Order: sequence, then structure tokens, then C-alpha cells
Amino acid sequence: MIDFHAHLDLYSDPHSIVKECNARGIYVLSVTTTPSAWEGTSALTTSSARIRTALGLHPQVAHQRKGELDVFNTYLAETKYIGEIGLDGSPEYKVHWDDQLLVFDHILHACACVGGRIMSIHSRRATQTVLEKLEASRDSGVPVLHWFSGSKSDLDRAITLNCWFSVGPAMLSTAKGLDLVSRIPHERLLTETDGPFAQVDGRNALPWDVQQVVVRLATLWNMPLGEVEQKIHLNLRHLVSLL
Ligand code: MN
Repeated sequence: MIDFHAHLDLYSDPHSIVKECNARGIYVLSVTTTPSAWEGTSALTTSSARIRTALGLHPQVAHQRKGELDVFNTYLAETKYIGEIGLDGSPEYKVHWDDQLLVFDHILHACACVGGRIMSIHSRRATQTVLEKLEASRDSGVPVLHWFSGSKSDLDRAITLNCWFSVGPAMLSTAKGLDLVSRIPHERLLTETDGPFAQVDGRNALPWDVQQVVVRLATLWNMPLGEVEQKIHLNLRHLVSLL
């Protein structure tokens, strides 16, 4: 199983979640929301061969944490993975749009300067600006759009731009999400949960809930479960080999 976007540090008992991920052999991209959280979050999984920690600055806290861009620069050389980063155009965060742009621009530029990174990107109600920024910063690395919720034409544009997509249970719970997922090329798709933020069956999502996505993909792709699992693993290997 692969959970390519989970906030392990934000569970009430991160150690037990990490232990269970290790026991189940789950590959996890452990994203962070602030640069200052990177060191501690990274330390949670030093003995986990299948878990990688991403250095992030979430757009929803950009206005409060823009002062941590120096900290971001400090850790950038230590990881191949960046996230959660991006833009959020919902009304409560749009008021801090300039700070979000400042942070996102800084990070894309910084990633380009070090030869590119694999980036887990948030684009809620901001898909078009996120895509414009990525188009203008091709050297920043490989974008993985997490929980994509744009239009079909935005999706086409993102595919043309060589974006990847990480898909969680929530995305498969609406007709619109399902339609988008069915249009994503199989070779650019990874599974995720966005736990503990995202909900599954009325509770916080757990990394192993990605199995629900695999089951849904098997139906959607008309493929045996084992083949879907294999495909997602091959995709992860391919993605990691790109940098
Ligand atoms: Mn997230």
C-alpha cells in the first residue's frame, strides 16, 4: 500500500501510527505543514525504510509562517520531497493570498535552484494559479497534485504539464471527483489519505485506508485488485526515479 500524502505528525499518537505503517509495510510520504516541524517529524520515522518525510509550508498557514522560509532553505538539501505546499483560494484563506504567493514562489524557486524536488501540492480553489506557477517554474521538479478538485480542462492542462496526482477516499466519494479520477492517466496516479484531516467513515483517515482507493480503482479501471496494487507500486518507483 502507498499513502503518498499523510500528516503523520498530526495524529494524536504518531508513534503508534508509524508502528502500524511499518508492520503493514506501507509506503508513506509524511508531509509537514511548517518547516519547523520537519526535524521532529523526520525523527519519527528514522527507522522506517518505507516512509519519507517531506518539507512543507502549507498555504493555509503561509501568513503565520512566512518567517520560516529561512528554516525551509536550511533543510532543503536534506530531502528529495517537498510538501505540503501550494495555494488555497477558499474565502477564509484568500485574504492572505499575497503571503501564499510569496511562500509558493519562494519554494518553487528554491527547488529549481537545487535541481528539482518531488512536490506534494495543495490547489483547493486555486488550480489555475497553481498551474500557471508550475508552468513558469518547470525546473522546480515533479508536481504531484494532491486531492485535485479543479475542472476537466484544468485537469487536461495539468496532465499536459506532466503533473502527477494523488487520490484519496474523499475524492472518490463524489461524482465529480470520480469523473476526474477516471480521466487521470493510470501511469500518473498514486494513492493517498490526507489523514488525519480527511475523513473516512466519519472518523480521521488512517494510512491503511488507501486500500479503499485501490478497491475503487479496480472497479474503475476494470482490473484485478492485485494488478492495481502492482501498477501503483510501479508508478511510485517511476516517480522516485525521475529525480
Ligand atoms: Mn494535507
